[in-house]
Amino acid sequence: MRITVIGTGYLGAVHAACMADLGHDVLGVDVDTAKIEALAAGRPPFFEPGLSEVLSRTVGSGKLKFTTSLADAAAFGDVHFVCVGTPQKPGSHAADLKHVNAVIDGLAPHLDRETLVVGKSTVPVGTAAAVAARLAELAPAGAGAEVAWNPEFLREGFAVDDTLRPDRLVVGTVSAKADAILRDVYAPILATGTPYIRTDLATAELVKVSANAFLATKISFINAIADVCDAAGGDVVTLAEAIGYDGRIGHRFLSAGLGFGGGCLPKDIRAFMARAEELGVHDALAFLGEVDEINMRRRQRVVGLARKLVGGSFLGRNVAVLGAAFKPNSDDVRDSPALNVAATIQLQGANVRVHDPEAIENARAAFPSLDYAHEAAKACEKADVVLHLTEWQEYLDIDPEELAQVVSHRRIVDGRNALSLDRWRAASWTVRGLGRASA
Ligand code: NAD
Repeated sequence: MRITVIGTGYLGAVHAACMADLGHDVLGVDVDTAKIEALAAGRPPFFEPGLSEVLSRTVGSGKLKFTTSLADAAAFGDVHFVCVGTPQKPGSHAADLKHVNAVIDGLAPHLDRETLVVGKSTVPVGTAAAVAARLAELAPAGAGAEVAWNPEFLREGFAVDDTLRPDRLVVGTVSAKADAILRDVYAPILATGTPYIRTDLATAELVKVSANAFLATKISFINAIADVCDAAGGDVVTLAEAIGYDGRIGHRFLSAGLGFGGGCLPKDIRAFMARAEELGVHDALAFLGEVDEINMRRRQRVVGLARKLVGGSFLGRNVAVLGAAFKPNSDDVRDSPALNVAATIQLQGANVRVHDPEAIENARAAFPSLDYAHEAAKACEKADVVLHLTEWQEYLDIDPEELAQVVSHRRIVDGRNALSLDRWRAASWTVRGLGRASA
């Protein structure tokens, strides 16, 4: 099949490379010329495990090409996947659909034959129907330019595997023809028994934001319990282990700590609330406001724990921050809790030095006034306190005895409750975590 992928960021670049790897002829499209040049040379413009291999294989074989032209895309493709960003609108909780609208307005006038436009971006319910109406109005092919919505559930850090071996495929469309085309596109994945759920446009849009709302709620639930553990003298890590064995609860997404960030969960739950308000069902999702509040309070709690450890004031203190990416195995720093904490502590008078295995350049671009080190031990030199804020394997492997040789004081805040308390305490470190009052 001849496929285009419009928007080649964290979602689109992986989708384009994986579709080419499945055997399709793929054209990736973006407005960012630097990104397109890197991709066309087979270089991923961001860190994602496994992407480099798939990209060089598919670019090398000629199955994957790139352009900045929507006219070229329209001429090339029979199926167009829309993967552009849908960030939070400035000054509002709602999603900003300007990139989706720009793609539709730019692509539609070139669609002069039967074609299928497939949205993958996460959008407020109702967007797909509006896109379909706009296409019918603007495309010379008229009703021959169909729309489907196929939300994406990939996780950064596992994006290639999640794209090639997803838990499920969800396709929103009322058109049997669109359904058949997408079953063809995904045929090798469906052949392995992957569930395929066909639904209407609205349900497909809602599946994605509901999944994210559920995951955010689960994280904030255990973080709320962490606060109760701290007040009552309990240990949230043991508690989570114990309740997670209940098959109805499960262990995943049940780790208390610094909470969620990134380019998806925070803005998606806010956009979901904003859309519910427009639909007149604000009350139904009011709880997501509390989920958001609980999550944002994690950052203040970690700042508070660290401040207490250094004696009540950050003025003139050296603080080492391990982790800048919003999660491990990614260089994505969008709404990164780690950087938020680092910047807050710097504003309170500390000298803050940040390390991350992959995200330093992105972090520096977002927070140029923070100090950065290319080695974890360098970031920790003369530190009065070390903050473990993104659980990269590299940090879990640190030898506490070795790190103790470079710091001023053996104090660490484990913002992810992921370090071995026994190992660190055996090396005479004072360790603090959220919800670990009795640990
Ligand atoms: P991103 O910012 O990394 O990528 C978006 C890309 O779209 C950028 O490269 C940008 O230059 C490009 N773009 C913007 N306007 C364009 C235009 N008019 N024409 C062509 N390209 C244009 O964002 P992302 O993380 O890839 O997310 C994209 C969408 O996918 C969002 O709706 C997001 O919520 C959703 N999503 C993301 C993930 C994830 O893990 N990142 C997972 C599932 C869903």
